[in-house]
Amino acid sequence: MIVVCLFASCRQKENIQQEAQQFLDSFNISYEKVATAYNEAQWQSQIKITEGDSTNAMNERKAGDAYAAFLGDSLLINKVSYFLQNDKDLTELQTTSLKKILYIAANYGGNKEDVSSRIAADNKQTAALYGFHYMLNGKEVTTNQIDDILRSETDNNKRLAAWFASKEVGKGLKDGLAHLRDLRNKVVQGFKYNDFFSYQVSDYGMSADEMMALCKKINEELRPLYRELHTYARYELAKKYGAKNVPDYLPTHWLPNRWGQDWSSMVNVEGINLDSVLKTKSAEWIVKQGEDFYKSLGYDALPQGFWDKSSLYPLPADANYKKNNHASAWHIDLEKDVRSLMSVEPNSEWFETSHHELGHIYYYMSYTNPDVPPVLREGANRAFHEAFGSMIGMAAMQKAFLQNKGLLPTNVITNDTMKLLQEALNYVTFIPFATGTMTEFEHDLYKNNLPENEFNKRWWDIVKEYQGIVPASERGEEYCDAATKTHINDDAAQYYDYALSYVILFQVHDYISKNILKQDPHNTNYYGNKEVGTFLKNIMKTGATKDWRKVLKDATGSDLSAKAMLDYFEPLMKYLKEVNKGRKYTL
Ligand SMILES: [Zn+2]
Repeated sequence: MIVVCLFASCRQKENIQQEAQQFLDSFNISYEKVATAYNEAQWQSQIKITEGDSTNAMNERKAGDAYAAFLGDSLLINKVSYFLQNDKDLTELQTTSLKKILYIAANYGGNKEDVSSRIAADNKQTAALYGFHYMLNGKEVTTNQIDDILRSETDNNKRLAAWFASKEVGKGLKDGLAHLRDLRNKVVQGFKYNDFFSYQVSDYGMSADEMMALCKKINEELRPLYRELHTYARYELAKKYGAKNVPDYLPTHWLPNRWGQDWSSMVNVEGINLDSVLKTKSAEWIVKQGEDFYKSLGYDALPQGFWDKSSLYPLPADANYKKNNHASAWHIDLEKDVRSLMSVEPNSEWFETSHHELGHIYYYMSYTNPDVPPVLREGANRAFHEAFGSMIGMAAMQKAFLQNKGLLPTNVITNDTMKLLQEALNYVTFIPFATGTMTEFEHDLYKNNLPENEFNKRWWDIVKEYQGIVPASERGEEYCDAATKTHINDDAAQYYDYALSYVILFQVHDYISKNILKQDPHNTNYYGNKEVGTFLKNIMKTGATKDWRKVLKDATGSDLSAKAMLDYFEPLMKYLKEVNKGRKYTL
């Protein structure tokens, strides 16, 4: 059937849609090409690090320059802007694609000198951070060794020394951070973004103020529970370290983490000893188990290329090169080439991590379909991508699943309250750090141009307000304790992603447990349930073509809220109130 329109405006609408489509089709082809080359170059420099050999670094820089030149091209940007000025005549998918192109381009377009200064400053800052020599008692130590001390040392002086040692790196990063802030702001301001923080937030389709309000709301929802954990920790740690008085605020070096973001190693959970079972298996078995979990939900097998091209296991001891041991998942060509970088060993940590990384891989595979153009092959937002892998990782650690798989004896007796407490000391204590400390600081840094001589004062004011944590002694402006956190330097202004991913995780897990599985959210078995698979695939397959708020509401029937997370920890709240009876609350 052909409908011939009489109206000129209708023809014009058709013309511009066609024109935009031609442009987008050709953009997507080129975009895939430059992105593939850049991803491949970055992949190579992660999986093979040979000291003294700069070939990979050079290739990475070359591919990065080509990527930046393509996306920062003023002709491309003008064309996108032209189409967006006529967006009333475009389809929703076209407008979404064009906005995404402009978003990516804003970080590379504009004044060439500013962009290349920013890239150079970025590299310099990262090199200074990773090249830093941490010293403790006159000897060089790794950050892993510092973390071990903070997790297990009971002598408070030794803890304090380790904490101090971990913060020395910030001094040399302070000027670099101030310089990077200026350049990051300047580059995106060329695209009418107010500042870099607002730019990063705009990927959620939100203003900076809206994001701050959302973070505040989540933080407030979880505040009563955090207050109980904070009180519990002050009293329990005072006992543990033999302190005469219980302090009103937690001394930062008392906590088992350099930033006080994860306190889970404060407690031991007896009963579940997955490590003793897993150590009898091979590393390959661990990854295959992860794939098997997703297959049982109805997902396809992983493509052969995944097994051929991934770097999944530790290098042999006699290898003459190194690899990055931090787990990651890659969508190299925005098509079928998916890979993971891990160093899997047969233990519970890698068991959970394998399930997490495969969550990213199955998300890639789900939105690689003809309805999602390559430039929109991303999560509904950045937090969604983290949420699903973490959710499956959590589900794979629950008792009902492990018993069903024969990995835990059916008659095992576990301390469920302690398990819940341990989970809260990980998930809940993270929220004030992520939505408060990190987000407030970066908001002030970029949006309010926080003066360099106030960096450290502001940081500690926020830490005290949100986390209820204080340093053991005055931290003057010669330090820059914020810059000791990697993300402040090289993954700037998006830390709220992680907090939101936890909230989404619990919200979706709650929905699956109660509405599909009809099981207790604390003890589920997703395995083999195709309905769960269909539910997840429906969320994943649209990639970034739809507004994330609509995706979440359509799937779960509710807006983003920490309610599910609160419900999950409700039994713990009762326990903590009992334990904290008579104790002084200070938050
Ligand atoms: Zn992840």
